[in-house]
Amino acid sequence: KRTGRNRACVYRDNGIDGVTPAVEFNAVNALQSAFDEQRLRVYAQKIVDLESGNAVGMELLTRLVGDDGSVIPPDRFLPVAERNDLITRLDSWMLRSAARLIGQNGGGLPRDWYVTVNVSGLSLSDLRFHGVISEVLSSSAELRDRICFEITESAAPSNWHVTLKGIELLRSHGSRVLLDDFGSGFTSFNYLRHLQVDGIKIAQDFTSSVSGDPINEPVVSMVAQLTRKLGIQAIAEGIEDASTARQLHARGIRLGQGFFFHRPQPVEDLLVPA
Ligand code: C2E
Ligand code: MG
Ligand code: MG
Ligand code: MG
Repeated sequence: KRTGRNRACVYRDNGIDGVTPAVEFNAVNALQSAFDEQRLRVYAQKIVDLESGNAVGMELLTRLVGDDGSVIPPDRFLPVAERNDLITRLDSWMLRSAARLIGQNGGGLPRDWYVTVNVSGLSLSDLRFHGVISEVLSSSAELRDRICFEITESAAPSNWHVTLKGIELLRSHGSRVLLDDFGSGFTSFNYLRHLQVDGIKIAQDFTSSVSGDPINEPVVSMVAQLTRKLGIQAIAEGIEDASTARQLHARGIRLGQGFFFHRPQPVEDLLVPA
């Protein structure tokens, strides 16, 4: 039921995706205790203007600190969160963290930066998350202006109509919505029609070795043209070297992020003391 209505799903003895119930149980417990023990962290990566190299904002990315102090990336725990009704809690925590960062007046976040948060399709179709959206966004115009939502539609295509309600809610508050990982997964142009997004983030698969690549080159140029005509932003993900940044900029992509500019790091490290 959690993945949507009108679906059939094969349940094997070894559980979902080969995860045994015992392993899943431990993972859920570990994640739950991470919440209780405040072992979730906000990391951030700058989003830069490819023309000037100046940062225009940052994307917030979650991390989990393990028992041994190790920093665990989201691909290790997001699937667990999504399968076990913890993703809304995680996305709510991140949205509130974004609000807190912006709210700390003089807290060191450059005044002209926007802040993006990733939201799962499952959260977007969850009424509890709708409540958090309304609570946070109705509290201040600055939050509505500066928090930007990144959505990946691969999460729950079957729950589409409810997800759409969540996106409409964000837009009704006047917040911006970016389509994440464009070009990967289930992205289709139909989303542009129904979503009225404010920007497209091009997945790393398409942004590397642009020059002369028979697929990446036309895809990048097409997205640049498309976003210009629609009057929305194009942001290239996963830029790892100067030549890639130049090639993307030469094809009309204005914004980008990637290890070349900045590696994700604890958000505190990006705040400049007053
Ligand atoms: P994403 O939103 O597409 O984020 C981009 C990912 O690419 C991040 O991985 C980032 O660290 C990584 N990256 C950035 N620049 C480069 C680069 O130059 N090269 C390479 N190889 N990778 C780069 P990360 O932080 O591991 O996050 C993975 C995914 O987890 C994110 O993909 C996003 O979909 C999801 N995620 C992260 N935080 C949250 C969250 O708070 N809520 C939800 N629902 N999802 C989240
Ligand atoms: Mg993202
Ligand atoms: Mg992405
Ligand atoms: Mg993603």
